[in-house]
Amino acid sequence: MLFAMRHNVRMKNSSLARSILMNDGWSIPQIGLGVFQMPDDEVEAGVLAAIDVGYRHFDTARIYRNEEGLGRALRSSGLPRDEFFVTTKLWNREQGTDSARQALHLSLRKLQLEYVDLYLIHWPAPARGLALESWQTLIALRDEGLIRSIGVSNFLPEHLDELVQSTGIVPAVNQVELHPAFQQADLREVHASLGVVTEAWGPLGQGKYDLAEMPVLATLARTYDRSVHAIALRWHLQCGTVVIPKTSSPSRMIDNASLEGFELTPDDMAAIADADRNARGGTHPLEGNW
Ligand code: NDP
Repeated sequence: MLFAMRHNVRMKNSSLARSILMNDGWSIPQIGLGVFQMPDDEVEAGVLAAIDVGYRHFDTARIYRNEEGLGRALRSSGLPRDEFFVTTKLWNREQGTDSARQALHLSLRKLQLEYVDLYLIHWPAPARGLALESWQTLIALRDEGLIRSIGVSNFLPEHLDELVQSTGIVPAVNQVELHPAFQQADLREVHASLGVVTEAWGPLGQGKYDLAEMPVLATLARTYDRSVHAIALRWHLQCGTVVIPKTSSPSRMIDNASLEGFELTPDDMAAIADADRNARGGTHPLEGNW
């Protein structure tokens, strides 16, 4: 089996075995590979390279149009189903009862899977007014065994409240924009009080700014002899955040998961917290109604 030939990339200080327990009893690997903006014909090679490195957690979405390539990679890897973790997301236009159900079935077919580990409502899309109805559908689909864990993405506290008040079911995860220049400390506190795992999208700032231009990251990179990217990701890990950095480069896949062998001190963590610029780089959750 191909799987037996894999694991040929040796990694020092791998953090890939770290996982976080969610509020439904399932665990999520703390580091995954995001595949946004990897075209379908490239995602297969990228995911196979990541599997070689040891990644077992992959984050896609219907709107990324690369679920089929991810599915092909997982199938050809020969990895047993219980050894990998796949997240996909319900796109805004598919919110609603029947349409959410159809969307999940389509994702499962493209991914060649019988269930996904985590299914997220991609945006609250308040102008559509269908988030609660979609959440009720996700609960049903989970109960039918087609999804293990259900969660949301880009939800503000008011959106989380609506779901919890109406259904009593707390999302396992809220995947939100989160990086050193946009730290979302208040939202992370809300998550902690509700028992929602925080998952960072754009954990490296999506390349929209140079991490090295944040003096605290540059200083810590010199102190610990690591890249600024490794410092940023180590900060996420120590905050208890799940990260899904995207890269197509095998050497960067290794760097992004080689986060052991050093630890940021409480002073380091406080210095990074002080450097927050509250600089959102992506769409505001109230405006993502496409
Ligand atoms: P990231 O913060 O992961 O940044 C990705 C960029 O950083 C790429 O340009 C990549 O370049 C570069 N990069 C990665 N690793 C390194 C490294 N070690 N050194 C230098 N550069 C590096 O942004 P993403 O937007 O991709 O976010 C991650 C994932 O989050 C997405 O892939 C997707 O799965 C998810 N996401 C979810 C959203 C949501 O609304 N729920 C929105 C956006 C993203 P290269 O590829 O050339 O290596």
